[in-house]
Amino acid sequence: MDSVIANVTSPDSLEQALKLIQQDPSKWQLVAGGTDLMVTIDQADQGKNYLNLSKLNELKGITVTAQFILIGALTTFSEIIAHPLIKDEFPLLYQAAKGVGAKGIQNCATIGGNLVNASPAADAPVALLCYPCKVEINSKEKNHWIPYQQFHLDYRQVALKPGELLGKIRLARTPEKNQHHYYRKVASRQALAISKLALAARIILDDHQVVSSAKIALGAVAPIPMRAKQCEQALTGKAITPAQIQLAVELMLGEISPIDDLRSSANYRHQVASNLLTHFLTTLLPTEN
Ligand SMILES: Cc1cc2nc3c(=O)[nH]c(=O)nc-3n(C[C@H](O)[C@H](O)[C@H](O)COP(=O)(O)OP(=O)(O)OC[C@H]3O[C@@H](n4cnc5c(N)ncnc54)[C@H](O)[C@@H]3O)c2cc1C
Repeated sequence: MDSVIANVTSPDSLEQALKLIQQDPSKWQLVAGGTDLMVTIDQADQGKNYLNLSKLNELKGITVTAQFILIGALTTFSEIIAHPLIKDEFPLLYQAAKGVGAKGIQNCATIGGNLVNASPAADAPVALLCYPCKVEINSKEKNHWIPYQQFHLDYRQVALKPGELLGKIRLARTPEKNQHHYYRKVASRQALAISKLALAARIILDDHQVVSSAKIALGAVAPIPMRAKQCEQALTGKAITPAQIQLAVELMLGEISPIDDLRSSANYRHQVASNLLTHFLTTLLPTEN
């Protein structure tokens, strides 16, 4: 194939980048790590204008405050994996980050690119959906925060308007003691494989072993990364029992809408989703003394 000549502009600051995209939003294709974009570039992209975000220090790195962990959209998965507080306090995100591609990809791939590319099978979204999480949207006029749950609108559509970019991800630090986390990515291989299905879950039990909070998120089973909210509601306020597990699994299966595609079949995805949730909830059954 002949080489593709593209025009690349690399602003030095967020202000400069926002000014450029506001002037002519349709002109630019934003690039972060390029790991999603580069695999799709072909002759049709000849002459396209790329806005390289990689010099925007304002969107890099992880900041910790008493209440929050703020992750810049340009933070790579390697940086997320290396952060001790993320491993301790947000283990679902740590595990999701470890599942992205292999080390070479983790060194370039950014969390912002993962969310904006918005594949239903992407790894970071299911983890973030289990935490109190907001994302910051930046434009020349204003910066505003929205709950991450409202970010994915439809298949590969996110809540960014022309002239806007994703700035930061903010996770609220949750001190609850009795938190139980579960993350499984099911794929053809351990590394360098996109999910056939992913399930992330976070359940908090009170002192009486009653569920005080349930978050169950799934990837690759619907047009967008999703939470199984009816299932969560059925679990909340109750103790975990075999009957409760059966009800929760039935409700979750009614909420997902997997398809047959090149990676898997709808039937397989239904079965695996059922097995994974059953497995996790079974580990939470009260033990008899
Ligand atoms: C070999 C290989 C293996 C992979 N394995 C996995 C995997 O296991 N799991 C997984 O989830 N993904 C995987 N991916 C996909 C990809 O690596 C990730 O989705 C990655 O996080 C994308 O980030 P990026 O910085 O490279 O995005 P880019 O390719 O730079 O951008 C992706 C999209 O996001 C937009 N964008 C990026 N940053 C911003 C921003 N701040 N604001 C607004 N728009 C923005 C871009 O315009 C573009 O549309 C793999 C890719 C490859 C090539």
